[in-house]
Amino acid sequence: MQAKKANEATSVYLVGSGIAGLASAVYLIEDAGVRPENITLLEQYDITGGALDGAGDPEHGFVVRGGRMHEAKYRCYWDLLSRIPSLENPDVSVTEETFEFNQRFVSHAQARLLKDGKKMDVSSYGLGLKDQALMLELLFLPEAALGRKRIEDWFTQEFFDTIYWYIFTTMFAFQKWSSLAEMRRYMKRFMHLVAGLNHLGGVMRTKYNQYDSVVRPLLRWLRERGVKLALGTRVTDIDFNLAADKKTASLIRIVRDGRDEEIVLGADDYVFITNGSITESTDNGAWDRAPRLLGEDQAGAWQLWKRIAKKDPTFGNPGVFCDDIELQKWYSFTATLHDSTFHDYMEDFSGNVDGTGGLVTLTDSNWLMSIVIARQPHFPNQPKEVKIFWGYGLYVDRIGNHVKKKMSDCSGEELLEELWYHLKVQDLMRPVVEAGKVNCIPTAMPYIDSLFMPREPGDRPEVIPHDATNFAFLGQFAEVPDDCVFTVEYSVRCAQTAVYGLFDCGKKPLPVYVGANSPKALIEATRAISH
Ligand SMILES: Cc1cc2nc3c(=O)[nH]c(=O)nc-3n(C[C@H](O)[C@H](O)[C@H](O)COP(=O)(O)OP(=O)(O)OC[C@H]3O[C@@H](n4cnc5c(N)ncnc54)[C@H](O)[C@@H]3O)c2cc1C
Repeated sequence: MQAKKANEATSVYLVGSGIAGLASAVYLIEDAGVRPENITLLEQYDITGGALDGAGDPEHGFVVRGGRMHEAKYRCYWDLLSRIPSLENPDVSVTEETFEFNQRFVSHAQARLLKDGKKMDVSSYGLGLKDQALMLELLFLPEAALGRKRIEDWFTQEFFDTIYWYIFTTMFAFQKWSSLAEMRRYMKRFMHLVAGLNHLGGVMRTKYNQYDSVVRPLLRWLRERGVKLALGTRVTDIDFNLAADKKTASLIRIVRDGRDEEIVLGADDYVFITNGSITESTDNGAWDRAPRLLGEDQAGAWQLWKRIAKKDPTFGNPGVFCDDIELQKWYSFTATLHDSTFHDYMEDFSGNVDGTGGLVTLTDSNWLMSIVIARQPHFPNQPKEVKIFWGYGLYVDRIGNHVKKKMSDCSGEELLEELWYHLKVQDLMRPVVEAGKVNCIPTAMPYIDSLFMPREPGDRPEVIPHDATNFAFLGQFAEVPDDCVFTVEYSVRCAQTAVYGLFDCGKKPLPVYVGANSPKALIEATRAISH
């Protein structure tokens, strides 16, 4: 369909206030010329930001479901944030703030993998000739030829015991049963980082957690311009007029304050839909309580996509991604300490000052636990004497090595007991725990790896489905060729694709940076995997 120019009456409804929705609002205003007061973000929760969370205080403990690794070639993301003033210093953009921060705190992990509490030698990826050859072969196959193959369908069994796999699986949260096609995209896209991956070289972080460093500045920018924010508003269904040659969204059904309402879409109205979400049905536990594993009943995003998908074959296959929680779930945890013993120990042990080490993975942990000590403070309201760190485990159904429970059944206290055991700091940490100076909040994320489920072309809808006149799909379950799905970059790229595709504004999405297109990166990566 032909892109149209926005006019005074153009209104856009954005389903979801994750980075995809927020970015869309910015591009609609800045590049498409849509009036800010005609843009409405419809968000089911009482908070914006979607996956980009960060909450809490020293008394009750802080929580982040995750922390984002970025890199310099996130072209769309840095473009977006270069337009947004930093919260703390409005004279610089969030992009400038973040690049400056990363010049001061350069990522170079010196304790990336541990075994028996000791640092492992990660100088070689340890790949056998057969797996090296399979990696190269994979790069040269077209994505469509891979169908719904899993990673474990491709490589040898030995591959999953290599340094390479431990680094790859824990950095990006791929499982053996994840999509091979998705892994191939990561290998190509991030080829320029492969030689330094064993030390997390090239990884960039924001100054604070992403709610404070990214979402809050975006929100302030949008609010100042008059964008409408409808929190606590769940979109339950969307009606479409579906003709053979054109598809038009005509009505949005919402539930607000327990009441059903409808938004009728006129000739100048658009809707962008974040379909699916990896953080749906998240539940937090506590120091003395494990989180609950919730499911689709609490997942407005999945319910909506399932309803819409029934209406047209080009709207994708949500069930492929969300119907098997057992293959998708993993749990994270956030520890808050009113004491610096652990952070001092880790700095001494790893050789990394906080904020420069990134993931530390316990390779002999049955849960495959990793932790990250971000630069302190990680929250603007975090006092100097309070320290936090984040961790996660990929295999939550396995019994711990020390705590004889599944990770999914553990309270915050039990998770930390298991961690102290692996790091051999039980004696060091006992007095700190007994003095009540530690809190830890575990978080269950049933859908977190849904985006890596084996899928084939058509399972994700195009950002702008063929013949769509006034709607687009956004986020991690819309198809963006070549880019990597578990990234903020992907979601911002969707926003650019949707805005520049539906509105005639003379702009195109920035091209995806594909590391494998650089001969230098290819040579260095080949050398690194064969070393
Ligand atoms: C633990 C974790 C670690 C991560 N690590 C990294 C990393 O290292 N690097 C990186 O680049 N990225 C990382 N990511 C991924 C990144 O955070 C996400 O890709 C990105 O934030 C997704 O943004 P989104 O807007 O597409 O979707 P979401 O953030 O999922 O937002 C969707 C929003 O839409 C709302 N919504 C959906 N359906 C409805 C409905 N029917 N009605 C109303 N509202 C609705 C939801 O409530 C939600 O707020 C990580 C994510 C997590 C959770």
